[in-house]
Amino acid sequence: MIVMKFGGTSVADAEAIQRMMNLVEEKLQKHPLIVVSALSKVTDTLYKICDYAERCESIEALMLVEHLRERHKHVIEGLIPSTNPHFETANQRIDELCNQLKKLIEVVCDLEELSDRSRARIIATGEYLSSNLIANALNANGIATNLVDARKLILTDQNHLQGEPDLRSISEVVPHVIQEAQRLLNGETAEALITQGFVSATASGIPTVLGRGGSDYTASLLGMAVQAESIEIWTDVDGIHTADPRKIPNTQSLTEVSYEEAAEMAHFGAKVLHPATIEPAVGKNIPISVLNSRNPQAPGTQICCNEAVGPGIKSLSYKDNILLLSIFSNRILQSAGFLSRVFEVFSKHHLPIDLISTSEANVTASLVPDKPLDAVIDELSNVATVLVETGKAQVSLVGKELLFVPELYPKIFETLAHEKIYLISQGASLNNLNFIIDKARLPEITHHLHKTLFEHESHT
Ligand code: ADP
Ligand code: ASP
Ligand code: MG
Repeated sequence: MIVMKFGGTSVADAEAIQRMMNLVEEKLQKHPLIVVSALSKVTDTLYKICDYAERCESIEALMLVEHLRERHKHVIEGLIPSTNPHFETANQRIDELCNQLKKLIEVVCDLEELSDRSRARIIATGEYLSSNLIANALNANGIATNLVDARKLILTDQNHLQGEPDLRSISEVVPHVIQEAQRLLNGETAEALITQGFVSATASGIPTVLGRGGSDYTASLLGMAVQAESIEIWTDVDGIHTADPRKIPNTQSLTEVSYEEAAEMAHFGAKVLHPATIEPAVGKNIPISVLNSRNPQAPGTQICCNEAVGPGIKSLSYKDNILLLSIFSNRILQSAGFLSRVFEVFSKHHLPIDLISTSEANVTASLVPDKPLDAVIDELSNVATVLVETGKAQVSLVGKELLFVPELYPKIFETLAHEKIYLISQGASLNNLNFIIDKARLPEITHHLHKTLFEHESHT
């Protein structure tokens, strides 16, 4: 069995879905388990719907639902002949899902309250719409396909918007559900199975989701659970590049990167993969490829075991909205006590720290400011003076054994010679070097660094 995941742009419209179905058809002998995202931008629309509903602006929210209905029906028209029975079934399912969404919005507006649990239910609708549509289109095209509900496959904790998958339960439950789903009602065996990316549930069936971009993670969790021959991530670029090809000129596609490199690139901001994608596949040594659904002839990127790839710099990535927290000890505590107290506070408030630098009387940490910090700052103020600096960005260089490529360092620091660097981090692994700069300097620094580090050699 192989897992084939198609992201939003790979299922954006009828043309894209037709391309996707051709790719699936070529792999039928390998029994594809297809994971689909919502049609491109649909999840963003669902987030907007949540915001409107939360503010009781039901007319605006309901109007967006009607746009979603129209868009999906338009795609069905472009894919399934109206004489085919799947045309009617697909349209019915879109209506049911949009009507359910409308009911949810009305309830939220009545209650004047939107819980994370209801939000998870609303934002998962995009994947239900796309998967129902595509399952019908595949069947209409003669590919016997069964649709499996991801809430039976991807089991998580109670965190509704960022569910933490329970790998053991998933490994136990998925093979059974998949085996059952392969048996069709007419006694035949399904040629392909399809499920929703991003969507998950607790063991008792309460809806959760895996967080933005989570469909990649769904694919690797399923790959792990069915011990897939390979996991294919079909997207809108020719594999993983030396940097984001939409933001930085002259990037090159990488033919091979290691699991470790890919995991670090994703962790440090390369949006092409969800940061958690690699982990489930590594344990079972399942190869992952990142491929372009608009250009399937391109080789894309193979992600494989660490031993199989050579050392050297592979990529530049960045996070463009970083906050720096500088914590200065007021010396009530000794150095060790100070550090332990600071980390205790981070841990108590579930504050995910990205980079960190420490000295005897100071801790400076970088983080993505996605939640209020007032309580953390209050508590730290008991033992320290806290300074918060916004408007920063983090640049990361990733590559196997970067530390042992000495010629790299003069190039990097010459490029940065006249820049303000607020924090540097290296040593947490041999494979990355990170620094914090002013956000306003990000375009110039990243373009310049990419030119210096990547544009004179081939990185394959
Ligand atoms: P999908 O909808 O298929 O999941 P995403 O938009 O999540 O696609 O990820 C693909 C995008 O990731 C690309 O369009 C590209 O702009 C961005 N990206 C960021 N860093 C990289 C990189 N190093 N290599 C390739 N793409 C990257
Ligand atoms: N549709 C979800 C999102 O836009 C999940 C995904 O595409 O991976 O975040
Ligand atoms: Mg993605």
